[in-house]
Amino acid sequence: MKYHIITFGYQFNKSDAEKVTKVLTDYGYQSTDTLDKADVVLVLACSVRQSAIDRIDGLKRKFAKIKKTRPLITILSGCVLKTDMGKMRKFFDVVLDIRDLSKLPEKISGTRLRQDFGGQVSNQGSVSGYFDLHPAYKSNFQAYVPIMTGCDNFCAYCVVPYVRGREQSRKASDIIAECKSLISKGYKEITLLGQNVNSYQGTMYKCQGTMTFSKLLQKIDSIPGRYWLRFMTSHPKDFSDELIDIMSNSKHITPYLHLPIQAGDDQVLKSMNRKYKVGHYKKLVNKVRKAIPNMSLSTDVIVGFPGETKKQFNNTAKVFKDLKFDMAYISQYSQRAGTAAAKLEDNVPKVEKKKRDKILTEILKKTSLEYNKKFIGNVVEVLVEENKNGYNIGRTDTYKTVKLKSNKDLKGKFVRVKIKKGPSAFGLTGELVSD
Ligand code: SAM
Ligand code: SF4
Repeated sequence: MKYHIITFGYQFNKSDAEKVTKVLTDYGYQSTDTLDKADVVLVLACSVRQSAIDRIDGLKRKFAKIKKTRPLITILSGCVLKTDMGKMRKFFDVVLDIRDLSKLPEKISGTRLRQDFGGQVSNQGSVSGYFDLHPAYKSNFQAYVPIMTGCDNFCAYCVVPYVRGREQSRKASDIIAECKSLISKGYKEITLLGQNVNSYQGTMYKCQGTMTFSKLLQKIDSIPGRYWLRFMTSHPKDFSDELIDIMSNSKHITPYLHLPIQAGDDQVLKSMNRKYKVGHYKKLVNKVRKAIPNMSLSTDVIVGFPGETKKQFNNTAKVFKDLKFDMAYISQYSQRAGTAAAKLEDNVPKVEKKKRDKILTEILKKTSLEYNKKFIGNVVEVLVEENKNGYNIGRTDTYKTVKLKSNKDLKGKFVRVKIKKGPSAFGLTGELVSD
């Protein structure tokens, strides 16, 4: 039996895909890169934005066509809202809550028997809770390590608390053990994942009480080795001075911070239930930049939240100009069923959302290009992520994409690169100095 995974959305779904791979591999299934060869296809979707759910439509038609010619078990999971799951139920054989990933083999075997794939499926051991499902890492040099799941913040627009449940922190000792094991295997980049890593509260050993995110980072950072340590996502309301201190004194934590602002207007932030004001965000950024001068800053922002006036949007644009983000993920608001904002009228027209998106993108292009120009002539360290068409492409510790021409395949290696003239807003080019 062969399985194929299709992932939509963000890092959490990629991390879930690695857990699915382990469950199915342990169960004796083999992975395949193409749908054509698959007996089982698993779609990890995402209800965070309507656009990600819309992408499933094309797949439904493809699956139906294949099913006319041969058996195919279709499974849907991920961060999917109950209402979206309900709509998909008739197009998928199995619709599985992401928190029930451990039940995947039994769901497949039930479907398999029903579809008469030929005989019983042997049960090769059981897997318990979500955190106990160990991932089969896709890469042999970069790994996502989930440190918590769910969220208690209930931002008015967001489905995460509904699709992933309330916040649950993974045991610190398990996280540290996973990181130690990865580093000993030569992994070069570890990204700790959580919806709001700053509210992490894990336990180390039974008798030692709880551990904060700062302390957890400090413990991981003290593991000897040659690696970069990243984390996401941070919530501005919970970002402590202790964390800034640990970041600025660390050996492995990269000078890159993803700090979603979501809006640059106090009234909109209040309607979004973000629980901080623009002033707090600005102060925080200034503190971080003072402590870590080469820090690269990225953010998430939503345009066209219900009731967002032109004046309020202009405040966001002004914050974009003032703070000069190095990267931003700009989303046009989409109403999600069941969230608090779904009770508000989605009254910013689509064309206006697009216009606001474009305005922020233009500001971002300028500030990001300004930041990128500072690298010209510098020698930077790059972790090469792929080798394609005679180019090695990787990222700096500041999360900037760097492209360099080289006949050698340097994938998975740290290399030193001299940055050339003419960077674009979203990337740098350079030449190899040493590997
Ligand atoms: N936990 C992170 C935080 O506190 O910012 C964000 C997680 S969310 C899954 C990823 C991003 O999707 C958010 O930062 C937000 O910008 C965007 N997003 C979430 N819900 C959205 C919605 N209904 N419409 C548009 N964008 C949305
Ligand atoms: Fe969603 Fe807010 Fe939680 Fe982030 S902090 S996952 S935006 S509810």
